[in-house]
Amino acid sequence: MRVLLAGGAGYIGSHTAVALLEAGHDIVVADNYANSSAEAIRRVEEITGKSVDLFEADVTNHEDMRRVFDAKPIDVVIHFAGLKAVGESVEKPVKYYRNNIDTTLTLLEVMAEKGVHNIVFSSSATVYGDENDVPYVETMKKGSCTNPYGWTKSMMEQIFTDAAKADPEMSVVLLRYFNPIGAHESGLIGEDPQGIPNNLMPYITQVAVGRRDHLTVFGDDYDTPDGTCRRDYIHVMDLAEGHVKAVEYAAEHKGTEIFNLGTGTPYSVLDIVKAFRKASGVEIKYEIGPRRAGDVQDCWADATKAEKVLGWTAKRGIEDMCRDAWNWQSKNPNGYRD
Ligand code: NAD
Ligand code: UDP
Repeated sequence: MRVLLAGGAGYIGSHTAVALLEAGHDIVVADNYANSSAEAIRRVEEITGKSVDLFEADVTNHEDMRRVFDAKPIDVVIHFAGLKAVGESVEKPVKYYRNNIDTTLTLLEVMAEKGVHNIVFSSSATVYGDENDVPYVETMKKGSCTNPYGWTKSMMEQIFTDAAKADPEMSVVLLRYFNPIGAHESGLIGEDPQGIPNNLMPYITQVAVGRRDHLTVFGDDYDTPDGTCRRDYIHVMDLAEGHVKAVEYAAEHKGTEIFNLGTGTPYSVLDIVKAFRKASGVEIKYEIGPRRAGDVQDCWADATKAEKVLGWTAKRGIEDMCRDAWNWQSKNPNGYRD
């Protein structure tokens, strides 16, 4: 199959590109490099020994997307393209609604024009909001999101669901990611946030490599064993392999299906600090700070549906996640700018 990765030069897209190529699929990548660089795809080619059709394209722009779809026939689209910084989305909500919703509408319109019916969407566990109890199951009612970024995901899920209801030819797979961390084991590709990292693991690896002085742990007064929040961290290559299964599923089914992609095992912030120290041998200086606005205490998946229906489970453990995150960061202290 030929798979279009919209936003495919980013962190999850580049790892999924490797997994798809290794599974024997062809890929096309379209990205405007708002939060990435073409270097990631050059390295995907280095890892796999295969060449990738790469387009600099804005997924909100119809002409750009027509050019991509006209180049070669596409069987399935994966929609990664979006802005994802939670804090920035609170300060600039309109920018987030404009970009994230428009990428979705443009993709759906151009897909309809070109007769492409299958799409896999990067959603997030954030759509469960803070009303549901862990572990989160796909059948739960969605909750109230705590920031505009989360709302864009929730709204985009609704747009895709409605589009599939109206068009019996359509196949939509909504993937709710938990917390992807780690990197490809080669250390050639990994997470490369611009500016100060928002997420825990890139912050830790930047402390480890000396780019930041210390980690601030956001609150140790939660109702958890060590007082810090718990999350379902998943190795980005496990997540990438989940996309291969989702793409193959989307090509063979109609309608909308939702899958959690997580491990089902929670770790606290301090568990991660300890696991990283063990994997890297580097001490992570940290201080306890106040809670971060919008954080939920606990977030982890019930991952049984993906196992039953897609035949997918996460295989890599927390040691692998920390080792591979460190391997990437220590070989590329300044990310793709090295
Ligand atoms: P990323 O920022 O590394 O990748 C997103 C890519 O989309 C970037 O390469 C960016 O340049 C591109 N992009 C943004 N707007 C675009 C536009 N208008 N046209 C073309 N390209 C555009 O982020 P990621 O971590 O790889 O996340 C991929 C997707 O998964 C995002 O939609 C994100 O919201 C979602 N997601 C990520 C996480 C996570 O923790 N990383 C969790 C849940 C969901
Ligand atoms: N976290 C932290 N310090 C940081 C970044 C994150 O203590 O500098 C905590 C955060 O409060 C949360 C966990 O680490 O409990 C995971 O945060 P991240 O932003 O990576 O993911 P999300 O909150 O989206 O699940």
